[in-house]
This record gives sequence, C-alpha cells and structure tokens, in this order.
Amino acid sequence: MKIDIVDWKLIGTCNLRCLHCYGPLKKEKPLPTEQLLEIIGKFAELNLEWVVVTGGEPMIVPDIDVVMRKLKEIGVKIALSTNSTFFRRFQKLIEECVSSLNIPLDGSTPKIHAASRMDEKSWHTFFDVLEHYRLCPELKPEILRVGSVYSKATHGDFIAMARLLEPYANIIDTWKIYEIIDYEFQPDLRQPIMHEHDTFGEEMADLLRQTDLAPKIMLAPANSRDKAYFMVNPRGQVVVPTDKGGMTYEIPVGNLLTMPLEQVVANWRHYIAPDNYYLNHRLHYDKTKQLPGGTVKKMTEYLDVLDDEGNVVGQASQEEVYEKKHSHRIVHVMVVNPQTRAIYLQQRAETKSFLPGYFCTSAGGHVHAGETYEQAAKRELYEEIGLKTPVREVHRFVFESDGHKRFIALFVAAATEGFDFKDGEVTAGSFYPLDEALTIVEKGEKIHPQLDPCIRWLHQNQESIFVQV
Ligand code: SF4
Repeated sequence: MKIDIVDWKLIGTCNLRCLHCYGPLKKEKPLPTEQLLEIIGKFAELNLEWVVVTGGEPMIVPDIDVVMRKLKEIGVKIALSTNSTFFRRFQKLIEECVSSLNIPLDGSTPKIHAASRMDEKSWHTFFDVLEHYRLCPELKPEILRVGSVYSKATHGDFIAMARLLEPYANIIDTWKIYEIIDYEFQPDLRQPIMHEHDTFGEEMADLLRQTDLAPKIMLAPANSRDKAYFMVNPRGQVVVPTDKGGMTYEIPVGNLLTMPLEQVVANWRHYIAPDNYYLNHRLHYDKTKQLPGGTVKKMTEYLDVLDDEGNVVGQASQEEVYEKKHSHRIVHVMVVNPQTRAIYLQQRAETKSFLPGYFCTSAGGHVHAGETYEQAAKRELYEEIGLKTPVREVHRFVFESDGHKRFIALFVAAATEGFDFKDGEVTAGSFYPLDEALTIVEKGEKIHPQLDPCIRWLHQNQESIFVQV
C-alpha cells in the first residue's frame, strides 16, 4: 500500500488549551529548521501526495514559511490544520502554499465553542476566515474543511452549528465531525467532556437528515481512527495512534531522522490497519473519490465486509460490495402495534433505483462501516420514517441470493404514530394485521425479497414480538 498522506505534528506548543486536544504535550518544541528540511527530504522519497501540517499550532513554528514553501517545492500538497487565530497574519502564505485549509468550529455560539476550546476568540476568527472566502472565493484554497469534535460540550448543538455554516455552503468543501476519543495526552483535562456512548450516531443521523450540508459531512466515529495514521511527531518519530482498552496511545514504529526510511515504512506497514488509514483519512483528499460538484463521499457509504462466519474482515465502498458480492450486514426494523397486533409495512419510493414502489419492513438498510447492528437500526428507523423509538433485536439470519450473502438482524419497535417520510426514501406505509401481512407476502407481488423471511419469522414467533419494547 502506498503512503499518500502523512500527518506531521510539528510542535506541541499552542496558544490555546482545548480540553479535547490530541496534540503532543504543550512543552514539545519544534525541531531545528535543518532537521525539519531533512524530514521533508524523506517525504520527497516517499513520493507523498499530501502532508497534513498540524501540531500544536503549526503557525507558531519559527520557520513555518520555509517549511511550507519547501513542501510545496517538492510537489506535495499541504493540508494545514490551524486553529484560525493566526489566519490574518499568515493569510498570504496560506493562500500561496495551502491546498486544504482545515479550521475548527466547536459550537454555535462563542460560549459553547469555548466549553471545549477554553477560548472564544477562535470562534470569531473562524467566521472571519469563512467571511473572507465568501467575499473572495477565488482566493480560497482548493479545499476548505471545517472540523468539529463531538463531545459532551458540543452534544446537542450540531443542528445549530449547521444553521450557521449553511450560508457558507458554496465555500465549505467538507465538514468533518470527529467523535471524541480518549488520548494518552492530558486525559484528566478531557474527562469532563467525554460523551456518553451511543449518542454520536443518533445525533449525526438527525443532523444528516436536517441540513443541506449533509453531502459534505464526513463522520469519523471513534473506532474508525484506530491505527489509521502515518503520523510524525515533533521529534521526527513515526507514531501510530492505537486504541488500547479505550485509551489511544501513539505507538512509535521508527524515526525519520535516525532510521533508514525503508525500515520505518516496513514497520509502519506491518502495524497499520490499512482500511482505517484509507477510510479515515486518504478519502478526504482523494479527488477521484469525490462526487460531482466537488463534495466528498461520506464515510458512511462504506460497509464492513464479512467472512463466511460473519466476522468483519475489511471495509469497501457500497459499489464494490455489490460488484464483488462481498458479504455484509443489513438491518430490518418492524414497527409493531402491541394493542392491535399489527405490523407496519413501508412502501419504497418510486424514485429508488432498486425495487421502486415495493413493500418492505418498516425501515431497513445497510450497517455502515464501524456501526453496530443496533446503531444502524436506530439510524434507519429515524432516517426513513422519522421515529426515535427504542429498538429490540429479535432474530438474526443469513439471506443469500445470486451468490451474495447478507447477514441480517431483525429488530422490532413499538409505535402507533409519529411517522414522517422527510428523506424521500419511503413514500407511504400502513399497519397490517400480521395474518394479512403473511397473505401479502405469500402472494409475492411487489415484495422486497428480504421482507418474506422477516414476515414468516415474525408470524411464527408473534408471542415474543407483541410486547412493549
Ligand atoms: S488549537 Fe489544536 S493544538 Fe491547540 S490546544 Fe486546541 S486542539 Fe490542541
């Protein structure tokens, strides 16, 4: 696998003190400029496409202009991750050298932003950057990327943030939302804003449903970043952030200043999780993966690939999963009315490319890469028919057609009202007594193939499904 992208933490020092910070310790100084240039020489040998210049705050590095111009000279593209407070001071350099400007927003108000960033000024400088490029779009770097951290401090605020960002939709290329992770540096500071598990998927499903920015949003759930980087720290060490029991540690695999490059690369290749590296990072900057109009494919369009026993063995795009008939995971949710003992069948939109107008379970779809069955069931239930009802798994089975295996989990959810078809996936739906639903399935007209085994199982096990869930 080619190394295309390197994250270079040039410095630990920063003018801010964000609680969630994954940067090196603040006392870490940058290397002398000659050694920085030596490292850039190694990057040239690697024939990289991108270097993510980060820290700490990279604009504090004394010879940052020399570093950036050298990177440009060797032909790599620079993605600059900066907290935006030095933007005006370095605007010319940024517009001369940077291809992806990555700036953070962590709240819809300066106060919310400061709950994790401990600073309100950077909220204003963030919008100063957006306003500048709204007025002068011709000066904008190729990619303008907003980054936000999902934490207890930002939980519940993403739709309000979207409303602020929407007027800038024509200049924002990507909005990447990172679920907070625990990291070896300053874990005590981070503790107050670590979020409760399972709220990320729900809030993001809400967000994707409610904002026109949805096609630009890339989600980075916590588990997608394990062993996903070629990262260089301020000492020239190549490190791989690795999850160990819920804490991420930077595991060193070599040093660009003291070891032969081939050795460092071999160690890294041996250690890395290639799919995570590709999905989490490379995809963002890879133009060939971008959709018409310049937006980037969401990570959520990638699926976990399974072996014959249902174990995850990799990830692939949805297109590749179908083209190569990779086994993958699917959820179906059946909404039930315990009082009338009826089940809710949806009718797929006529605009769907696959089985338009067909009857199916109340909601269903692919389990995205990194998602659990339950997270996917809740997301689909909300995305397709607008329900935020608890779900209960009742059955698993393998569905095979045309040599293509799907591992399916069937859930039930109790509801009688509140259906809403905003996202256009579904046009209609109705409750049917279970006996009648079985008759519809047995007739076999306009029936989604996976509806058949779901209804038959529910009919045979109805005593266990018509209970309050
Ligand atoms: S601005 Fe970035 S480097 Fe500085 S403290 Fe915040 S997260 Fe860390």
